[in-house]
Amino acid sequence: MKMDFADIFLSKGINYFTEDTPLNAILRYIDISPDKKLEKLGQFVSDELIEVSAIVDHYFKPVLQTWSITDERLDSVWLSPEHSRMLAKMQELGVVRSAVEPGGIINHFLSGYIISDPGFYCTLTLTAQTAYALHKYGDSDTRNKFLPRYLDPDDPWYGATYYTEIQGGSDLGSNRATASFANGKWAIESKDKYFASNAGLADGSIVTARPGGSEAGTRGLAVFFVPAKNSRGELNYNVRRLKDKLGTISVPTGEVEMNNSEAYLLGEKKYGIYYAMEILMISRIDDAISAAGIARKALWESYLYAGKRMAFGRKLIDHPLMLRDFLEMEADLEASLILSLLAADLFSKSSSQRPPYDEVYHKARVFSHIAKNNASWVSDAITRYCMEIFGGKGFLREFPIEKFHRDSIVTSIWEGTSNIQALDLMELLSRKKIHLAIKEDLLDMVENLGDRKWKIRVIEAILLKFESVERWLSGKNPEMHAKDVLNGLANAISLAHLFKLSDLDRTQRFRQVASIYYYMHFIRDEEGDDEFAKSKAIDWMKIK
Ligand SMILES: Cc1cc2nc3c(=O)[nH]c(=O)nc-3n(C[C@H](O)[C@H](O)[C@H](O)COP(=O)(O)OP(=O)(O)OC[C@H]3O[C@@H](n4cnc5c(N)ncnc54)[C@H](O)[C@@H]3O)c2cc1C
Repeated sequence: MKMDFADIFLSKGINYFTEDTPLNAILRYIDISPDKKLEKLGQFVSDELIEVSAIVDHYFKPVLQTWSITDERLDSVWLSPEHSRMLAKMQELGVVRSAVEPGGIINHFLSGYIISDPGFYCTLTLTAQTAYALHKYGDSDTRNKFLPRYLDPDDPWYGATYYTEIQGGSDLGSNRATASFANGKWAIESKDKYFASNAGLADGSIVTARPGGSEAGTRGLAVFFVPAKNSRGELNYNVRRLKDKLGTISVPTGEVEMNNSEAYLLGEKKYGIYYAMEILMISRIDDAISAAGIARKALWESYLYAGKRMAFGRKLIDHPLMLRDFLEMEADLEASLILSLLAADLFSKSSSQRPPYDEVYHKARVFSHIAKNNASWVSDAITRYCMEIFGGKGFLREFPIEKFHRDSIVTSIWEGTSNIQALDLMELLSRKKIHLAIKEDLLDMVENLGDRKWKIRVIEAILLKFESVERWLSGKNPEMHAKDVLNGLANAISLAHLFKLSDLDRTQRFRQVASIYYYMHFIRDEEGDDEFAKSKAIDWMKIK
């Protein structure tokens, strides 16, 4: 008997964009007008991608083909036809192209929440970053030669970013790749690019390397575009092997070796590290948004399951403790989504900026660190707990719920670990004092909250959090408290926005979400019990 594998997804058929009530309210709140194509994406992910992604994960992982049958060196990755079809469809829906369209990058970011598969989305993120870098920093020859290939509607190229080397991912300044310039051309030598996602799939990549004579550390790094084939049509670099990973199986991650590989300098050498960080910011925001997206899928699946499964004569969802579990996850998830979309919006508004950049760009950086860390850990916790909601079934590979968690784990590691987000944030705050402006913005926002009782509480909570942040930053050992600063800011910003949103939206559910967030992260006592008991904040996930 033929089985539709996707029947194991309870949320199959739901439009993950149009039917996501909090997402749409948050978009209105931040004043983001999404592209119409996202509606199609929401249906496509639900009808097709979610199933193919599970099958690829279980049975059809990408395979590195080193040689062709006629003995040519290939170093290419073989994808299942369905895998390729999914990527092509998402390209057709503008997931990559939007990153270089004027004002379009916000749609690229949003697509990450809807796709919500960090493996598939990684392939497209890296491609969007490559197109963005060529578009913004390639000289006219480089741009004209390569960018159209990335935007080709019939056979678009894939991209990659090769920064990390075996001796250091966090410590980018330890990069050993070198670049030399002779006869009007750049060439790269590198034996150590150790984490290279899209290796074997990418037709060209963004690579960090140190031009001869440049200083040590991050300041000596420049950024290059390196095509997979050189101008003679030969392989321009080799893929040594693919990694055996816990999750994000659909994106091939390998090791890359460059020997005298033809390269094209992007922008000016002296600004290399700035470009590298700007390009990385796209994937950090993507990472945050897709982490929130995958948590939403896990939560939606679990909610629908909890509405069917019986225990002790009642549906799971009707047990007070389970209801509380759901409400807490919902509040944390909506906070992560707000933080991620604020980061995306700020980046989008500053994407025409170049080094040394303006204040909006620096603020986008602050929000990207906060959102990346917050969303990845919230996603980690939600996808993990959703396994438990499925009980023993949550632990079985034959059902989809465990994959959400395996895929979610990497989101706190790649594009810079939690400690790196915290340290980068602290360095930026110490130099630019952006937290002071953020504090003022938050206080302005909540000054006119309609409910006086909540207004006083929220203002007190914000002031208290910022008092701690300022103390940690100016204390004897700020590095030790870098994550306190990162998490403290995440909580204060989320609280203010959740309350402001609930004030503007004027629906009871958003007020409940905001107050639950307060009881979770500021004052945890029985006072919030009523909010939990009467809450309707998760009912929207019911299938209509
Ligand atoms: C599946 C996958 C795909 C990837 N794809 C890519 C890719 O396509 N391109 C790419 O360039 N990279 C890629 N990466 C690499 C990724 O970005 C790095 O693994 C990550 O940044 C961490 O670097 P590392 O592995 O060298 O760990 P380290 O830098 O060695 O860090 C180890 C630990 O030390 C901590 N640490 C480091 N410095 C400090 C400090 N100063 N203070 C406190 N703690 C510190 C870190 O937080 C971490 O917990 C990928 C990684 C994975 C897992």
